[in-house]
Amino acid sequence: MNVLLLGPQGAGKGTQAKRIAAEYGLPHIATGDILRRAMADGTPLGRKVKPIYDSGGLVPDDLMIELIRARLSEPDTEHGFILDGFPRTFVQAEALDTMLREIDKQLDLVLELQVPDEVAAERLTKRATLEGRPDDTPEAIRRRLELYHEETEPLVEYYRSRGNVVGIHGDRSENEVFAEIQQALEQAGAVA
Ligand code: ADP
Repeated sequence: MNVLLLGPQGAGKGTQAKRIAAEYGLPHIATGDILRRAMADGTPLGRKVKPIYDSGGLVPDDLMIELIRARLSEPDTEHGFILDGFPRTFVQAEALDTMLREIDKQLDLVLELQVPDEVAAERLTKRATLEGRPDDTPEAIRRRLELYHEETEPLVEYYRSRGNVVGIHGDRSENEVFAEIQQALEQAGAVA
């Protein structure tokens, strides 16, 4: 099964994606994690994206598209994947469609994790104290949430028109959210 997670920063995408990945034995492809690793390793990609990342901006589409193309061609994605953090723009969504068509795959399910902005901002502020991510400053948090609404949220409609979006209430306990996700996966026939 190929699953895409959408939702604002702080909705719990990463947490839930890890649980889905562990439960169903699928790779969790998180573009933020890939970029953080590249920055920590000081690769050319990492050095290039660091100022953009730190300010809470979006990394250019062409870089992200190539990164995902390479990742989806790795053999561990053969039986499925959980995509988290990509696509974030229309250009990326269209590129993903083309890419998947080329390898004869499709998204089985799009899960939209929904939380109010206040909850999202509060969770991010808490995480900032715990993890000290450079893009968890108040300005970068504001920028990231703004970009989510402007660039990424419209993708929900893009996928909804194909009928495979399920909304999940993210403003509850981790276990309750995961139970709802499992139900959605089963109903979609994505898992047994
Ligand atoms: P969050 O969802 O909390 O912002 P992520 O870890 O998903 O955290 O992403 C962190 C940052 O990585 C983003 O703010 C952006 O700079 C960059 N990034 C990740 N994925 C993408 C993408 N698909 N397109 C552009 N930039 C991205």
